[in-house]
Amino acid sequence: MLKQLSIVISPKPVLRQVAKEVPVDKIKSPKMQELILQMKETLRNTDNGVGLAAPQVGELLKIFLVSEEAEYVDNKKRDSDANIQMHTNDTNKVERIERKKDWRYFIYINPVVKKISKSKIEYPEGCLSVPGKFGFVNRSEKITVEAYDENGKKFIRGASKFYARVIQHELDHLNGVLFIDKVERFIDIPKNESGIKN
Ligand SMILES: [Zn+2]
Repeated sequence: MLKQLSIVISPKPVLRQVAKEVPVDKIKSPKMQELILQMKETLRNTDNGVGLAAPQVGELLKIFLVSEEAEYVDNKKRDSDANIQMHTNDTNKVERIERKKDWRYFIYINPVVKKISKSKIEYPEGCLSVPGKFGFVNRSEKITVEAYDENGKKFIRGASKFYARVIQHELDHLNGVLFIDKVERFIDIPKNESGIKN
């Protein structure tokens, strides 16, 4: 059975340090593979988490995960209305929990920004390491990142809107930056609801 890691909560110093590169020949090592599996398991068991960076589990390494769910947000298969519905309708809630188990996770190791748009969008954000806080953050609409996957293969991925936002939020984690440093204004989310966090 896979071990879940505990999520580091702000203001722990590990969240404020710059993460180190993973030696590419170590990506396939049992230790690194185990960490990646544990991070997936940890993210899968969060409440509404769509992304997770290694410093959030106490590992100062340039690794982050983005859930496939981030693409659903972009595709409007799941918007804020759907989110509220899913929390008030038992049938939908069950469906959402079951779907969550099946999300694939995209792994980004040693990510480098190749392109980032000047145009920005303001949108609410939350963070697993900053519980209970949500706020509007201005982020570039589009980003292109080069990284290694869990098999040590280099890839380039372009993303827009919500997925691009999650990538930028995770990149910040690798540089010791939290969304609360950039927030334009905080918002209140009712206690019985839970916003998307990363
Ligand atoms: Zn975060």
